[in-house]
Amino acid sequence: MWPRVQYALRASVQVGLRFQSTSRPAAAEMKANQTAHGFSFEFTDEQKEFQATARKFAREELVPVAAEYDRSGEYPVPLIKRAWELGLMNTHIPASCGGMGLGIFDSCLITEELAYGCTGIQTAIEANSLGQMPVILAGNKEQQKKYLGRMTEAPLMCAYCVTEPGTGSDVSGIKTRAERKGDEYIINGQKMWITNGGKADWYFLLARSNPDPKASAGKAFTGFIVDANSPGIQIGRKEMNMGQRCSDTRGIVFEDVRVPKENVLIGEGAGFRIAMGAFDKTRPPVAAGAVGLGQRAVDEATKYALERKTFGKLLAEHQAIAFLLAEMALKVELARLSYQRAAWEVDQGRKNTYYASIAKAFAGDIANQVASDAVQIFGGNGFNSEYPVEKLMRDAKIYQIYEGTAQIQRLIIAREHIAKYKQ
Ligand SMILES: Cc1cc2nc3c(=O)[nH]c(=O)nc-3n(C[C@H](O)[C@H](O)[C@H](O)COP(=O)(O)OP(=O)(O)OC[C@H]3O[C@@H](n4cnc5c(N)ncnc54)[C@H](O)[C@@H]3O)c2cc1C
Repeated sequence: MWPRVQYALRASVQVGLRFQSTSRPAAAEMKANQTAHGFSFEFTDEQKEFQATARKFAREELVPVAAEYDRSGEYPVPLIKRAWELGLMNTHIPASCGGMGLGIFDSCLITEELAYGCTGIQTAIEANSLGQMPVILAGNKEQQKKYLGRMTEAPLMCAYCVTEPGTGSDVSGIKTRAERKGDEYIINGQKMWITNGGKADWYFLLARSNPDPKASAGKAFTGFIVDANSPGIQIGRKEMNMGQRCSDTRGIVFEDVRVPKENVLIGEGAGFRIAMGAFDKTRPPVAAGAVGLGQRAVDEATKYALERKTFGKLLAEHQAIAFLLAEMALKVELARLSYQRAAWEVDQGRKNTYYASIAKAFAGDIANQVASDAVQIFGGNGFNSEYPVEKLMRDAKIYQIYEGTAQIQRLIIAREHIAKYKQ
């Protein structure tokens, strides 16, 4: 049974289906509508509703407790349950599995608001989308019903298990092996830095299924759905990270873990494309998270600059500080446009790899710059945990690392950019 508010959001989504995404039945109508009206920055009523619900939740329920969760590192179970009840997580799960089936643009609006409240909590929630995305993109009906369906019935978590202790950026270097034995695969290997690693009900896992070292990445790896309670899985300790401390990050060892062949996504050899393809849909939300953090930094710094006086003037009345605030605001506004473009492109059914990497790289960078500027505006207070901005500065760093580092995004942008000139 859907809790009342979530039910309300779900119902409104169904009303708004015609205007949301090209993957939905009335895509042609939406396109015609857009052609008639041209480019528009106006959100639909449904989008305004998602944003308002997420904003209210973040400001009233996340902001007041974020510092305490940061101090304790405790996993934010009550807040995740509440976000689930409100329909603010798992938003991509298709309607055929009981989900809201939102497009990436709509989900990004929610993510930005959650991140404003606390990016530790937002990352825990976003990791569900990352874990689910391969199943949404490549799962068959049975797999989707079984593994996505259950997440609409209870606030369960999942995780995306790709990175290993020996390799992160170079995904084709992973060593976890999958060996076919009858109707099962036997998995052996080690994963590292897995968000929701200790909380997940199931994992998307990438393993090498072709032992031939010469096999190309496009053929050598297979993607699996692995039940987290399978015998042979050992979950490591919770890692103590620089920021986003209430998010659960762990190493996981897989030792002779048996996975039925029914849990293979698409087929043997399809895993690399599935694992990488998910990023086109998950990088815009990561960028949206970075923008939420950046907006929080701008807001906190501006409020402070309008309260504190030096040399007989408010900080905001010193031109150097006013210009710094202006720089911060312009960076956040542009980063917001970048994630919206990336999300909109993929919702149109177009390849958005270029835009997704631009958004991820730019938003990740500016979140770090803007959080650091906010600390500067707070002066000594900014360096202290009694004030909110030092947490923002620590939390921001990961946006330049996970889901492809700042350098890897530039490799992708360069590749996509140069390819256009070679055509
Ligand atoms: C908190 C946290 C949560 C995470 N969550 C997940 C998760 O849920 N699932 C998952 O699978 N992974 C997860 N990761 C892993 C993350 O995606 C990797 O850490 C990231 O991809 C970088 O890989 P690496 O740490 O191995 O760094 P490396 O690949 O060793 O890179 C080290 C440095 O070298 C640079 N570099 C590497 N190659 C190149 C190149 N060709 N050109 C230029 N520079 C290069 C990188 O940009 C980086 O600065 C998480 C990591 C953290 C810290």
